Amino acid sequence: MENIQVLLKQGAVGKPCGAIVKKGDRVKRGQLIAVPTGLGANLHSSISGEVVDVNDELILIQPDAEQHKTYEKINKGTNLEMIKEAGVVGQGGAGFPTYIKIYNGQEDKPVLDHGYILVNASECEPGLRHNILQIEENPAALLRGIHYIMEIAGADKGIIAIKKKNRQAVEALDELLKDDPSVERHLLPDIYPMGEERAVVRECLGIELEPDKLPSAANAIVINSETVYSCVAAIEEQKPCIDKWVTVRGMIKGGSQAHVFKNVPIGISVRTLVERAGGADEDCGYGEIIMGGPFMGKSTTLEAPITKTTGALILTRPFRDLKGAKVGILVCACGGNLERMQELVQKYNGTETCVCYCKQAQEMPNGTRKCERPGNCPGQVQNNLDFKKAGCEYVIIGNCSDCSNTVMASGPKMGLKIMHMTDLAMMAVDHPLYRTLRVSKQVSQDLDVVDNVEDNETVQ
Ligand code: SF4
Repeated sequence: MENIQVLLKQGAVGKPCGAIVKKGDRVKRGQLIAVPTGLGANLHSSISGEVVDVNDELILIQPDAEQHKTYEKINKGTNLEMIKEAGVVGQGGAGFPTYIKIYNGQEDKPVLDHGYILVNASECEPGLRHNILQIEENPAALLRGIHYIMEIAGADKGIIAIKKKNRQAVEALDELLKDDPSVERHLLPDIYPMGEERAVVRECLGIELEPDKLPSAANAIVINSETVYSCVAAIEEQKPCIDKWVTVRGMIKGGSQAHVFKNVPIGISVRTLVERAGGADEDCGYGEIIMGGPFMGKSTTLEAPITKTTGALILTRPFRDLKGAKVGILVCACGGNLERMQELVQKYNGTETCVCYCKQAQEMPNGTRKCERPGNCPGQVQNNLDFKKAGCEYVIIGNCSDCSNTVMASGPKMGLKIMHMTDLAMMAVDHPLYRTLRVSKQVSQDLDVVDNVEDNETVQ
């Protein structure tokens, strides 16, 4: 087994933890090895072995030859204390510490005023499978977890938000929920994006939140389903947050089907998981590896470690060579930020020529963008005109399915070749492309895509 790398900052939010072990120390699986220095959560070793390096970014551990499934248990305490001690963070997003999300430090005045725990089981990004598989295999644990969290947060009601297409998981939940009036199931449309917190609030409660508002403004907390399972493991099994369920998919030897790995030790490398899935497809090759979903994920390397927030690894189709053609970038709140879009233009060997923003993609103080009115596209004709004026041949977009449609309504008529940032991932996982209007034959040839999307077909 390779050395494992436990990053001191496991998600997008918070400060790096401070290591409490040093080079030469022996550690056991489950042992606490780093603690928060600000906003953050405890870190535990996912294997037994010897610490071979500690630096500002990570703790490197050489595993013992023999590994066991058992682990050092966290101390018993209240449910909240155990969630905190286990280092549970939001595992579907930025890695916000769960104990802070569900508790405000006031015993007599919980976070919610008889409000709602909304469980995000949308597994919204296309191609992912691990969240839904976890629910199919153990719906009862999800329900127990919702009750633990409801009690801590002061919620009267739990709602599980899940997409219609996940019939097996929906049926399993419905069977359990018929005896539980305090938790219900809400079906989400089978489209992207449905997993964003405000979308979950809107769908479940009918409340439209402004882009800068948190679910607490609707007396609700949104929590990812895998995070609920980690809370259950902490409370019932005294288990620290040391592993993760991960989907590996795409240009893998043997086919594009999803490989779901359960309880992957935090810190093992992307390379190890790709090899366990069968290895990269050597005949066709791959373009890049995306850590996370095709829309919001980031490109990564074979040597990068799995973290508490890694949901998926997707090996995309190879990039085709645009031979320096002029490319416009349309930045939207649903897809990659400008940096990610620029990276893709480079990988396509295009020349970045013009950058436009959807006018509803409002910039937040932390630099991210949120849509002012999701699902209500303002139209993209003006942006397409700007791309045309700038001499762009191609335009790369990151829009959701509805808004991709509005780009397609005018772009191709102006002679622009529209690429979606997810195209190569979608082709790699055999998913329809994000174009709800027919891709013209010429564009299909130019982009090397299969014209498999029918007029007005709902994508995903
Ligand atoms: S309106 Fe559409 S394209 Fe614009 S930010 Fe919102 S989802 Fe994205």
